[in-house]
Amino acid sequence: MDATIKLLKELTEAHGVPGYEAPIRAVLRKHLESLGTLSEDKLGNLICEKQGSAEAPRVMLAGHMDEIGFMVKHITKEGFLKFLPLGDWFDQILLGQWVVIKTRKGDVVGVIGAKPPHMLSPEDRKKVVQKKDMYIDIGATSKEQVDEIGVRVGDPVIPRADFVPLASGDTFMSKAFDDRVGTALIVSVLDKLQEQDHPNTIVGVATVQEEVGLRGAKTSAWTANPDVAIILESDIAGDVPGIKPEESSVKLGGGPSVLIYDVRMIPNLKLRDFVIDTAEELEIPVQLSYAEGVPLMVA
Ligand SMILES: [Zn+2]
Repeated sequence: MDATIKLLKELTEAHGVPGYEAPIRAVLRKHLESLGTLSEDKLGNLICEKQGSAEAPRVMLAGHMDEIGFMVKHITKEGFLKFLPLGDWFDQILLGQWVVIKTRKGDVVGVIGAKPPHMLSPEDRKKVVQKKDMYIDIGATSKEQVDEIGVRVGDPVIPRADFVPLASGDTFMSKAFDDRVGTALIVSVLDKLQEQDHPNTIVGVATVQEEVGLRGAKTSAWTANPDVAIILESDIAGDVPGIKPEESSVKLGGGPSVLIYDVRMIPNLKLRDFVIDTAEELEIPVQLSYAEGVPLMVA
């Protein structure tokens, strides 16, 4: 398997929901420790600094290591787990998802369920079942059994999904591409710079708790103290059924996209133009993108 694909498989399959990033942090630590000076701040951000021939400018490359998931919030007397979301989830994709609960006694597998459609009225069958009406079934039949298995309220829950190369040969399916792709880029850039001189200091930062409000990015900016920050984040592909060109023209495989606007950020215009001009000069296709919609979490 190609080294990049192997790295993506390892990073996307690692567990790490907001606040519980230890497993993915350990994987990233292993990849970054030979590429620069590693440190970790109190919130859990992993920082890898590599100085070139000049101390400044300090260029921060940030990607978040956390992924969306859930937390156990209640255990019913019949042995089902009620959960709350960590990050934005579209209710329509939850039912039937396999999940892993990280307990003090080890990983426990479960599946997200709800009242069966056979028991619903024809009107209710057309409605989206909401998270609050769903549960995780781990096969237990009582709260006592759940306790014995080791599940506690507050335990993190991660979607269970394998990395699968798809038939096209150059597309892949997995969980957490958002934003393990960003962290893979940090590893790859720092690796390439090992054999190259660069007149600046690169600070690669794998941040925590992005999915619950960009928390790690805020604290790590104080530690990294950058002059320039480049955020490596996944975008939304517009080349799927139902999206009009004016809503998004980003195509999968069409080159990196540069975000010109989102509801929480407008980039520095000089930096934006520098990036676009440099890409043109090097004949790298760049797609300009924007995220007009309100994040699900705020909506
Ligand atoms: Zn993201």
